[in-house]
Amino acid sequence: MALETQEEPWSEFISFMQNRCTRAEFENWIAPVKCVQTSDPITLEVPNVFVQQYLLDNYEEALASFFPKDAKGKPLITFLIKEGEKRRETPKPLPKPKKKSEFEHALAFNLSYTFENFIEGPSNQFIKSAALGVAARPGKSYNPLFIHGGVGLGKTHLLHGIGHYIQSHHKKLRIQCITTEAFINELVFHLRNKSVDKMKRYFRNLDVLLVDDIQFLQNRLNFEEEFCNMFEALINQNKQIVITSDKPPGQLQLSERIIARMEWGLVAHIGTPDLETRVAILQHKAEQTGLHLPSQIAFYIAEHIYNNVRQLEGAINRLDAYCRLMHLTPSQEVVDSTLSEMFQAPVRSKISVDRILHSVASMFNVRESDLRGTSRAKDVAYPRQIAMYLAKELLGESLIKIASSFGGKTHSTLLHAWKKISQQLESDEVLRRQIQMTRQNIEA
Ligand code: ADP
Ligand code: MG
Repeated sequence: MALETQEEPWSEFISFMQNRCTRAEFENWIAPVKCVQTSDPITLEVPNVFVQQYLLDNYEEALASFFPKDAKGKPLITFLIKEGEKRRETPKPLPKPKKKSEFEHALAFNLSYTFENFIEGPSNQFIKSAALGVAARPGKSYNPLFIHGGVGLGKTHLLHGIGHYIQSHHKKLRIQCITTEAFINELVFHLRNKSVDKMKRYFRNLDVLLVDDIQFLQNRLNFEEEFCNMFEALINQNKQIVITSDKPPGQLQLSERIIARMEWGLVAHIGTPDLETRVAILQHKAEQTGLHLPSQIAFYIAEHIYNNVRQLEGAINRLDAYCRLMHLTPSQEVVDSTLSEMFQAPVRSKISVDRILHSVASMFNVRESDLRGTSRAKDVAYPRQIAMYLAKELLGESLIKIASSFGGKTHSTLLHAWKKISQQLESDEVLRRQIQMTRQNIEA
């Protein structure tokens, strides 16, 4: 059967996509695809299996609206992998490798993301010392180090902190810091340029690899395998790997093989900072920008912005700009008029230790008074630890204050409970669901 280039629905699809994706995306993923047969079955010729996977992962819906689909709404398309040099069409001239893709570029660590600029508190102390350990003895302490936590809590900051430290203390080590998205883009680039071996060689010769936001590897089957191979090659030679993610390994939609690899070393959580740490962060940022921030104003802001450090930074920048322009000094009124829309009080103000104890007690069928009490019987002690975990997660108040609401417990008891439950959450699906339901109940 002679394959011809067929146009119509395909060219409609192309012009549709041109308006919907970035130029780079279009060049990488759409332009190299050719429709070689428009019916029975529709056949798209792709340069390699990665492009096919990418199309299906990202544009399946668009494909289904331009081409016939099956009962489940999936596009009925056959993919044909272009056979190397056999075809005699004039290939499009390949773009010259950009400097960026040769991996010879200087390391772009954010200058302010150093360990010195990272403010410690109970929510990040453990992970910070693990990061310092890894930076001091790459490949010899925890490998890989897996850092997970929500948005804006300092994962990238710590990753770059490790990078800075290694760069200045272990000058001979070859180090690369890359976001998962950039890794995928590089891989695509080298696939198109038939230089994947070069890329593999580059990565396998590193001493330290820092990978940011691994969650972007989800649903990228073929890239995942390539990443996993590289990962194993490095780890087997005791080369240090550090990974950040918005979820723990077990919750990522990745193959069991790679999840198991990522759990080999140390998996550590970075949590939302408590009140005192938020105040310390605000004061540190204010000092850096030269803003005079009285302590009671720092507390006031920290009480109202509590689940994202990036927002705390944004608050300081805004306050600083406003005060400079208006020749004012920060006061509660100034804060109210500049930052009130960033404040997150409404939801949290309803939540209290009482409310948490009430929900946990009904979920686990124990008495609230037992949760405040001292009994160590497992059926009471365990829900109590869960209540402590939730209080630390949801209240954003000082640990000492929260602990005292639990019938005068110490803040180290509270922290111990929080750590235990956080760790268990990484692997215990039942507990995860119980906590989710309790949380919904508390926040309802
Ligand atoms: P993530 O990668 O977890 O989304 P980032 O590392 O980008 O978060 O942090 C967001 C911002 O907050 C950055 O500017 C970072 O410097 C700052 N930040 C986060 N945690 C801290 C901390 N403990 N001390 C000082 N700054 C912090
Ligand atoms: Mg980040």
